[in-house]
Amino acid sequence: MRIRVIAANWKMYKTPDQTRAFFREFLPLVAQHTRDEIVVCPSFLDLPAALESANGSNVAIGAQNVHWKEEGAFTGETSVKQLLAYDIHYVIIGHSERRQYFGETDDTVNLRLKTALEGGLTPICCVGEVLEEREAGATEDVLRRQCVRAFHAISVKKAAKLIIAYEPVWAIGTGKTATPEIAAEAHAVIRQEAGRIFGEEFAAHLRILYGGSVKPENASALMAQEEIDGALVGGASLDPKSFAAIVKY
Ligand code: PEP
Repeated sequence: MRIRVIAANWKMYKTPDQTRAFFREFLPLVAQHTRDEIVVCPSFLDLPAALESANGSNVAIGAQNVHWKEEGAFTGETSVKQLLAYDIHYVIIGHSERRQYFGETDDTVNLRLKTALEGGLTPICCVGEVLEEREAGATEDVLRRQCVRAFHAISVKKAAKLIIAYEPVWAIGTGKTATPEIAAEAHAVIRQEAGRIFGEEFAAHLRILYGGSVKPENASALMAQEEIDGALVGGASLDPKSFAAIVKY
């Protein structure tokens, strides 16, 4: 039995005041919700407001990235130690926007993932193919390659808290959702690859979230798939009512 995770990726949206306003409306809507883990990942500057607002609630706060060094001359980056100082335990790693616009590679994803796991964080590691790769029939190869590289030199023991998000790049922010069947097929490939690398028992417990234009209208069909262990939600997580509706799919 895998407990589902419904996570919000707020990207570069919201100010601290808007963050507080979101939680004022959102928390009462999900206060009774115990079925799934709920995580909100705001931008770094909104973390204090989010932590203060969600304190004592059933909503955890996560970050959108983490660097692999403990500290140093890495302008614009944030360390595991700095996140832990705020009591932040979830972190998104390798989001396609980081890969696409900020030079993130399979190798830097691996470094970030390894460090996050060693530091005791729960990483949500994103993988997914671009449209040309899907159209060329290369989805499976891409997912296997991304997994192999992301998991390189990570022991099964260290990987225990790992969460994967399958995010087909063509479905992010485009309104095009992968059908539940397409998503489940990709999840099965990822689970199989995780099984090959970390063993079957690990793979059976691994939580694989789907991300890409998840909305209140399509959440329940996606979650009806046994392979889908939750969602990583961008656009539709910015509105408290819409994100609450997804949480309660
Ligand atoms: C995301 O950025 O992780 C995402 C899934 O975005 P959206 O829900 O807007 O497609």
